Amino acid sequence: MARGENSHQASQFTKQSRRQEWGVNVQPYSGSPANFAVYTALLPPHARVMGLDLPSGGHLTHGYYTAKKKISATSIYFESLPYRVHPETGLIDFDELRKTALVFRPAMILCGASAYPRVVDFAKFREIADEALFCGQMVGAYLMADIAHISGLVATGEHPSPFPFCDVVTTTTHKSLRGPRAGMIFFKYTDKLPDIKDRIDMAVFPALQGGPHNHQIGGLAAQLLEVNTPEFKEYSKQVKANANSLAETLKSKGHKLASDGTDNHLVLWDLRPHGLTGGKIEKVCEHCSITLNRNAVHGDVSALSPGGVRVGAPAMTTRGCSTADFQKIADFLDRCCKIALKVQEEKGKKLKDFEAV
Ligand SMILES: *Cc1c(COP(=O)(O)O)cnc(C)c1O
Repeated sequence: MARGENSHQASQFTKQSRRQEWGVNVQPYSGSPANFAVYTALLPPHARVMGLDLPSGGHLTHGYYTAKKKISATSIYFESLPYRVHPETGLIDFDELRKTALVFRPAMILCGASAYPRVVDFAKFREIADEALFCGQMVGAYLMADIAHISGLVATGEHPSPFPFCDVVTTTTHKSLRGPRAGMIFFKYTDKLPDIKDRIDMAVFPALQGGPHNHQIGGLAAQLLEVNTPEFKEYSKQVKANANSLAETLKSKGHKLASDGTDNHLVLWDLRPHGLTGGKIEKVCEHCSITLNRNAVHGDVSALSPGGVRVGAPAMTTRGCSTADFQKIADFLDRCCKIALKVQEEKGKKLKDFEAV
């Protein structure tokens, strides 16, 4: 294609996309860089943000820090105040969020999580973001949804959509969307930010990244075509049914789950009633070729030895597993738990002794 033709097409595309409601940037290398690009595009340094606390199921890039250290760059370069899940229900504590948001007056509220088994109420977040509007601010609190974990469910209508309520939606492409490892940023054209496309595009490149990873972008395009098929919709439904089957079977064997179950693709298994840590179950499972990861459960005192594990259904559903297979998987997990208890009984609580056995 001649050079002139190419730039002509590019400007046509720009004009067209301006008329659309949403634009998208597909160049982020992954979910974390996508999120930092949004901060860079929309906020001045040290602006205030509120995201779900990491021990409550949030992601590092939603402003994570501890008493000792600002862990995520999003808490180094921005001022972050987390909100949490309710200690008893395990559900997002909207009352607490609202109260603190009205005092803190964040420039941006982030919703979405890495370990939250329930439906995210985007409308409720919008309400609070609007209420938290700070009159000295030009535009009020942005609402950003990070749907990394659930984007496959959102794309197929198996989880409510954030798009009617949010200014920006980010996602990874390699979780329930089942694509190659990359990220996307969707941004809404509104009068309050007419230059949002340029802001987002410039933040991704040249502010934060170098050249595009075209192999990933090509792979993502192919995957999005697949996401649009009836088969993928079936798959997403099955993912949810399987996660639910896993949850119900674990519960029937007397295990405790955060929020007492799941609405989506994952379960968060609370091992504290057994006196076990997530790390120990992770170890035993690893030896049994079961891949899962230790994960904080709300109320954990130590982030280093979290009290739960996170189990997702997408991968085994891809391999063709049914709800009955997931009952079997729950059975394997139950046996791993019994093995862990037995080892701990014999050798004591120290992880080193445990691992030796
Ligand atoms: C996984 C995840 C990310 C980051 O993804 P990476 O590709 O590992 O950078 C961001 N946000 C949420 C909610 C995630 O679960």
